[in-house]
Amino acid sequence: MTVTSAMSGRVVRPTSLEEAITACTQRPDARIMGGGTLVVAERALGISTTPAYLLLSGIPELHGVTPGGAAATGGPSRIGAQTTLRALLDAALSPMLDVALRSLATPQIRNRATVGGNIAERRPAHTLAPCLLALDASVGSAGPDGTRRRSIRDFVAEGLGEGEIIVDVALPARGGFQRFVRVAPRNGPGYAIASVAVSIDPTGRSVHSGIGGSGSTALPGTAADDFLAEAIDWASGAAPAGAAEEYGRLLAAACDPPTDDRASAGYRRHAIAVMGRRLIEAWNEEQQRG
Ligand SMILES: Cc1cc2nc3c(=O)[nH]c(=O)nc-3n(C[C@H](O)[C@H](O)[C@H](O)COP(=O)(O)OP(=O)(O)OC[C@H]3O[C@@H](n4cnc5c(N)ncnc54)[C@H](O)[C@@H]3O)c2cc1C
Repeated sequence: MTVTSAMSGRVVRPTSLEEAITACTQRPDARIMGGGTLVVAERALGISTTPAYLLLSGIPELHGVTPGGAAATGGPSRIGAQTTLRALLDAALSPMLDVALRSLATPQIRNRATVGGNIAERRPAHTLAPCLLALDASVGSAGPDGTRRRSIRDFVAEGLGEGEIIVDVALPARGGFQRFVRVAPRNGPGYAIASVAVSIDPTGRSVHSGIGGSGSTALPGTAADDFLAEAIDWASGAAPAGAAEEYGRLLAAACDPPTDDRASAGYRRHAIAVMGRRLIEAWNEEQQRG
């Protein structure tokens, strides 16, 4: 492990996960840095005056994507926490992630920004968590009390413990319909005002949804998912009339949106309901086309 000085702060560079966990305990004043696109921007803007940084970039086991097997039979894909969003895009693991990641910031930022850095603080506007909820992902982490793996639902509800580092994200093999949609102030890349991600897996007969920008963290669409999974006739692959509307209504009911300078709570709630309805209408149309 090396310690250098940069950006007017101390930089700790562990080369293994064990070193990083020890460093977290020995230097509780050090802020973890993945790609640095958020922490460096916050330092430059004077939002953060962290005296030291703990860089994860030199830890080999945190890097890279290991694709899993095929849907229905295959194991999960593993995404190391230090995987850049560009590398995740290149891995082409999911059509939903493809759309979501292209909407996230700019190519330059995606070249540096990491998966761990995107989900660590559980910020509701961040793009990945709604998709990971819809893909039924799990999050592996390590800290002074050992390692653990939690569902993304538990992760967004609980967050990280003191000195805990995200190690990886695992994506189970999931086939079927996968979509991410959002409303944003502009069509190009950037933070969404509100977003919805859904996957409908006919093999597992399950529906998973994630909602962004409409609570204190990304939110699972549990009631809407349970309703739709029950309403779908899985044998014919169709949802009854009114199911899309009700799914959107239940998603909106799960939200606790803020009013801020970008949108009112009412606008966000309405947008979630409309996006939810349209997603299920799109799925229905796809089913009918065969
Ligand atoms: C112009 C601009 C536009 C942006 N647009 C978007 C957008 O549209 N959508 C979006 O989601 N984000 C956006 N971002 C925010 C940011 O770039 C991304 O969220 C990015 O994924 C953060 O990853 P990072 O590796 O750079 O994080 P870092 O800046 O390195 O870290 C972010 C936080 O995560 C913690 N952290 C990092 N890695 C770990 C780990 N493995 N374990 C525990 N804690 C960890 C850090 O301590 C820090 O608190 C934007 C940023 C900028 C500057």
